[in-house]
Amino acid sequence: PVMDHALSASRVAMQPDGSRLIKFFFGEELPFVSHGSGVFVYDADGRRYLDGCSGAVTANLGHADPEILQVMAEQAERITFAHRGTFHSEQSEKLAERLGAMTGYPYVFLCNSGSEAVETALRLTLQYWRERGEPDRARFLSHAVSYHGATLGGLSLSGHPQRRWVAEALLHGFNELIPPYAYRFAEGRDDAAFTAFLTKRAAEALDSHGSGAAGVVVEPVGGAAGGAITPPDGYLPALAELCRERGLPLIADEVMTGLGRTGTMLASQHWDVRPDLVVLGKGMGAGYTPVSAVLVSEHVVDAIAAGTASVTNGHTYGGNPLGSAVALAVLEAVESRNLVANAAERGKQLRAGLEELAARHEVIGEVRGLGLLQGLELVSDPVTRSPGDPVGSLTRSAVLAARERGLLVYPATGGINDAILVAPPLTVTAEETDLLLALLDDALSAMSQCTRARA
Ligand code: PMP
Repeated sequence: PVMDHALSASRVAMQPDGSRLIKFFFGEELPFVSHGSGVFVYDADGRRYLDGCSGAVTANLGHADPEILQVMAEQAERITFAHRGTFHSEQSEKLAERLGAMTGYPYVFLCNSGSEAVETALRLTLQYWRERGEPDRARFLSHAVSYHGATLGGLSLSGHPQRRWVAEALLHGFNELIPPYAYRFAEGRDDAAFTAFLTKRAAEALDSHGSGAAGVVVEPVGGAAGGAITPPDGYLPALAELCRERGLPLIADEVMTGLGRTGTMLASQHWDVRPDLVVLGKGMGAGYTPVSAVLVSEHVVDAIAAGTASVTNGHTYGGNPLGSAVALAVLEAVESRNLVANAAERGKQLRAGLEELAARHEVIGEVRGLGLLQGLELVSDPVTRSPGDPVGSLTRSAVLAARERGLLVYPATGGINDAILVAPPLTVTAEETDLLLALLDDALSAMSQCTRARA
């Protein structure tokens, strides 16, 4: 009874609705989701929302896709789970085969979430170095504005103060590279000069760790931490070259950007960069199943195979037959429906529309991104480029104003700036893109009226 009392007392204190479920934000009122269809999601009151961010840049095929639902039902009837320590599964073999063929990688490791796959990429890299007789190489480098997952390795890589702080005592500060974020870090340099500056500083950082450096982790286009931060064209190739010269694996975290989102199969391909390892998640299961993967190059697997010849860790659900069958169906849909090309095409339309909004709405400091991963930097003053006060407040008002108008956008602030992601499903049509832009226009107008009323 004492326990019951304590529980109910804290429930009332924490959550006005008395819910036992620990949610993201205590006390925040969110609608209950009911169902989805295509790019639309409906709440329990029957209100319709255009999913302008594919959930969290995940539902790449939209909702309730009949082909995927059919595969899901058929596979669920056969078998959903078999542990990979006991059985191989045809579904995970086929998934690896297809994923490898679509991305040009010879080996695939399957996990369940982006964070797990990031951890796996780190572990595979650590094992690579151990098998090669350099166990002291354990220092990864990543960017100061970035998000790589909620596990301790992922957070150690992340430049996301809002998500780091609680675990800080257990984290590494891998996030020491200057972010390729021209709007706030170029300080007047043009693209070429900014690229040279970033590259020089990255080289210095790598060399400062000498024979302790293990690899570099990068989001080719940033996601949750800053809002589609897009590097100047020369940066990713230069970073890849720095890694190559030093024999360090380059790991691309394409959890958000991978599998067509930016208008190419992998975002790294925009710059002809072939990372040694690539992490995929989100759009791989497209919201139909939790599934993620690490794509691995020959030389990493060869080193491991020449040594202990086994990967020391996995995750129970990794490569389960149901998740694998669904992810395979998602990949087939991406290919057969030409969704990568659609992302490029609709991405152009979306980008042009956002630029047009930026010309009319002072709150938009910058439009950036690639394909259907677009971001808006929000500022309280376009001249000083100040974010909201407090930081995050403009993001929140934009998300709420959009939601009130039936549009979902993703808050992409990590406590450093104000930004939202606009990233509809890869299946979005031209008409739906126009509707998205009209709803966003409305939301931004309402926001600026609020800002003016406050001033
Ligand atoms: N890496 C990137 C680039 C991400 O965007 C995310 C999720 N926002 C993750 C890793 C972590 O993925 P998950 O939430 O599925 O663990």
